[in-house]
Amino acid sequence: MRTREAAAFCRLTEETLTTPMTAVDYVFLLQSWMAFQGAEVWDRNLENLAEGEHEVDCPYCGVMLTIVFGEEGHFASSEDYANPKAQRSPLRPIDPAQAGGAVQQLYRRALADGQRVVAHGLPYMLGQAVCTDCGTELSVLDRRA
Ligand SMILES: [Zn+2]
Repeated sequence: MRTREAAAFCRLTEETLTTPMTAVDYVFLLQSWMAFQGAEVWDRNLENLAEGEHEVDCPYCGVMLTIVFGEEGHFASSEDYANPKAQRSPLRPIDPAQAGGAVQQLYRRALADGQRVVAHGLPYMLGQAVCTDCGTELSVLDRRA
């Protein structure tokens, strides 16, 4: 879908992204912006960015891992991470410039718009994690594609 109306909405959304707003509002607007450009996967997954966590399953043992990348820190855990005894494994952020494509586009966009929380969280949200149950290293970006 690339009608004249969609192009107009896309332009309006892009202009609005540059105004100061909360990370939550920004991410919802960013979703719209990506959707107008036809990036459906990003449209569906971006809202986790504002929440500071999301879940992926381990490709080896199948356990559900919570990927945390906010004020709580940057780690993966298969347990309730609010429990201080929960095992955590550190996340390794991706390099947005190397990831290219939509990742790089989103990262640059958030930086240019002064959305530091979003720009900081994105490389961790899509980075490398280690399963706390079986030790398998996984690419969160690949698990979400
Ligand atoms: Zn595992």
